[in-house]
Amino acid sequence: MPDPLANMSPFDAAHDDQKKIMDDGIWVPCRICEEIFQRIRLTRRYCNTCKRAFCEGEHGGFSGRGPAVCVQVPPPRKAVRAITVHVSGYL
Ligand SMILES: [Zn+2]
Ligand SMILES: [Zn+2]
Repeated sequence: MPDPLANMSPFDAAHDDQKKIMDDGIWVPCRICEEIFQRIRLTRRYCNTCKRAFCEGEHGGFSGRGPAVCVQVPPPRKAVRAITVHVSGYL
């Protein structure tokens, strides 16, 4: 089995991760893992709001029946509290 095609280049707004995944059919690194944890975790899931790739489960997912969103974009209603818990200390 060949290795999956992957594009490890940084996020490019002109050719965002949705295009890379859907149009090019390649894997891209989760941008949250990349930027916050400096690690590469390939994914084919992307955020419908900011078009950045995320690893499903840990850094994003589906909000009910809505489109997939990463944890950097608070979903409307529910689940917001669970993912913004470390912000409350600053209020
Ligand atoms: Zn991640
Ligand atoms: Zn997002």
